[in-house]
Parts: sequence; structure tokens; C-alpha cells
Amino acid sequence: MQKSELDEINRVSTYLSKIPGIGFKSAKRYAIWLGEHKTEAINLLESLNSLIKNVSTCSKCFNLTTSTDGLCEICKDFERDKSTICVVQTIENLVEIEQSNVYNGLYLVLGGVISALYDTETVLKRIDYLKERVKEEAIKEVILVLSSTSEGDLTVHYIKDSLRNLNVKISKVASGIPIGQDINYVDKRTLMEALKSRIYI
Ligand SMILES: [Zn+2]
Repeated sequence: MQKSELDEINRVSTYLSKIPGIGFKSAKRYAIWLGEHKTEAINLLESLNSLIKNVSTCSKCFNLTTSTDGLCEICKDFERDKSTICVVQTIENLVEIEQSNVYNGLYLVLGGVISALYDTETVLKRIDYLKERVKEEAIKEVILVLSSTSEGDLTVHYIKDSLRNLNVKISKVASGIPIGQDINYVDKRTLMEALKSRIYI
């Protein structure tokens, strides 16, 4: 490849490598593959255009939604228990819990945990917003489903502290839902037990 082709590949690789989990080397391999496979590249482009146009973040729980009013199906569902919020790190975690059918309350996606290494402005803002929701929606319980790392623990303490003085129970999943595993491999019973055996903090 000459410089001009390399520039094209590098431009695509740069954007691909911004996706968590994709290193620059893999990104470059994908970009070259897309350069070779025009039909696939066009399909990808069209699906991305549709995603950008139709999908947004729910203004209440930060799940994804295609709804034009900015609220996801979970937040709008009258059948759900509106007195409980389950706080998760990522949208994938929310999807895992939803697919297991063991929880019927509301959610709030933090978008990460508090860390000394990364910019956690979004996480902190969302914790402030959680506090608002607890007050305004008369929430009775907040269930924390966060990773059992020191950063996860720090986040649990921070949330507990910011919700103090509010009349709300705070619990965390004791042994940890096997977050991050493909839901197909996660036993529904394990998820159910993890939520049932949550501890109040
Ligand atoms: Zn929502």
C-alpha cells in the first residue's frame, strides 16, 4: 500500500479503535477488510446511519431507545415496579438482567464506576441524577449491581453517601451477578439467587 491508501485505512482505524476492546492493530485489520469488501462496507455504513438517526439515550435511565419522546420502553412500562431502581454499570448489564426475566423494576445505567484513572464526570453526574430520581419518584429501594473491584466498592460507598438522609433502602448484590458473561451461559437461577440474596448496606 502507498501513502494515500494507508491514510484512508488509518483514518477508519482511528475511529474503530475508539470502540472499547478494539486495539489499533485489530482496527487496522478491520479497515483493510472493509476496503476489500465494498458491499459489507456499504451495509455497515447504512446500518450506522440508521443507528445514528433512530437510536438515542433514554433521558431517564440512559438505556438506548428508538422512541421519539426520549424514553425507553422500560421507563414507560406501567406494569413495572416503579419503586425500585437497579443501578448497573453498562447497558449490556441492563440487557443481561432484562433477558433473565428476574427483575421488574426500573434502572439507571451509570456508564462506568468511579475511578482515579479515568474521567468519571459522567458517572458522577448520573449519581447526582440518581439522587434526584430517588427524591422525585419516591423510590423505596436502590439495588446496586456493580463489579466487585475496589473501584466498584468505592462507587458503592459514594452512592450510599450521596443517598444518606433520604428515605430509601440501599442494597447490593452479594456474590455478584456474573456480569459480563454471555447471558446464554448465565443460569437464570444464578441471577435470581443473586438478586434475592442481596444485602442491605
Ligand atoms: Zn429508560
